[in-house]
Amino acid sequence: MAEREAAKQPKILSFSCARPTLAEIDLNALVANYQALRALAVEAEFMAVVKADAYGHGAVEVSHALAREGCRHFGVATLGEAKELRAAGLDERIYLMGGFFAQEAPELVELDIVPFVADQSALPVLDSAAAGRAGGFPIHLKLDTGATRLGITVEDLPDAIQTLKHCRHLTVEGVCTLLASAADPSSPVTQRQLGAFDQGVEMLRCAGLAPRYLHVANSAATVLRADAHFDMIRVGLALYGLPPVPAVVNTVKLTPVMTFKTRLLQVKRVPAGTGVSYGHTFVTRRPSVIGVMPVGYADGYRRGLQHGGEVLIRGHRAPVVGAVCMDLTMVDLTEVPGAAAGDPVVLWGGSGEDAISANDVAHLVGTISYELLCTVGRRVPRVYRN
Ligand SMILES: *Cc1c(COP(=O)(O)O)cnc(C)c1O
Repeated sequence: MAEREAAKQPKILSFSCARPTLAEIDLNALVANYQALRALAVEAEFMAVVKADAYGHGAVEVSHALAREGCRHFGVATLGEAKELRAAGLDERIYLMGGFFAQEAPELVELDIVPFVADQSALPVLDSAAAGRAGGFPIHLKLDTGATRLGITVEDLPDAIQTLKHCRHLTVEGVCTLLASAADPSSPVTQRQLGAFDQGVEMLRCAGLAPRYLHVANSAATVLRADAHFDMIRVGLALYGLPPVPAVVNTVKLTPVMTFKTRLLQVKRVPAGTGVSYGHTFVTRRPSVIGVMPVGYADGYRRGLQHGGEVLIRGHRAPVVGAVCMDLTMVDLTEVPGAAAGDPVVLWGGSGEDAISANDVAHLVGTISYELLCTVGRRVPRVYRN
């Protein structure tokens, strides 16, 4: 009987996309987020942070979509990321925020990438790389005002200023820093950092430098701290529609840009007492319907989601059961009437009335949505909608 039922179904389901596990990227939502965030700091320039392949959303498509909206500044972490954008025809300003090594200097000058300079030893290297160019090569000085990450400390700044005096081919166009605790509006650390930043900027001005762009704010500071907007904001996570802190939702409407989805690959009925997946960490307590999804940790669907993970299917939430595998994950569909192979499944993002936030998924596995988004696997196609 079951065999005859099965015979009526096509054995292998097929869709336009070979494997229906994909990240749908809503470019309209991206643009709406961009406009909403820009409206919070109309006096400031907007740098779209598109490092790590635009937090997993696809740097080329995201950057082009934002450039069409008038965004003129793009931030990346590595020279390789900058090269990808130049190769894709992005002519706007690209900033290399993540530091660089001496041997990368000639290429970044050649490609017109504006580096954040975080160490005075990089100055002579850049200066000689820029020697052949007409006009000063723009750089932004990255100050370490207390995050203790990349940057020139205020103590080391006088030496850097001395070095700069010999760099005839460089123009200090910007000065920036990174806030360690922007997400906590009451943090005294931010106040101290802003104080140190002012001090650094003052030292540069006394030395006769006139940086055009001072910038400090990431997403959280853009939304929570108007006093940190200065001349430019550097926005990543919020652009992709995720609030960096919950309080953000009171100030600005953000729409998640990525929906991570798949379709059921197989549905099976099993009796009570059936062990599911590696190690049988889940055993059915009742006759159950188990769905197999073609997604696993190699796609960025975290192994920890066997504890508390849920997916959206047919207007229901179905729990993940058993160990998440490299390529497959099981869900309990016993409470989902009519579930069948081929049904669309949302892993995170919206579906009908309901939505699963990447922030909530991240929380379940002890991480943050930043990490979740940028570790969506390379084999997951990004599909663009607008
Ligand atoms: C990644 C990054 C940002 C963006 O941070 P979000 O919290 O995603 O807005 C801003 N500035 C620097 C230097 C960064 O590395």
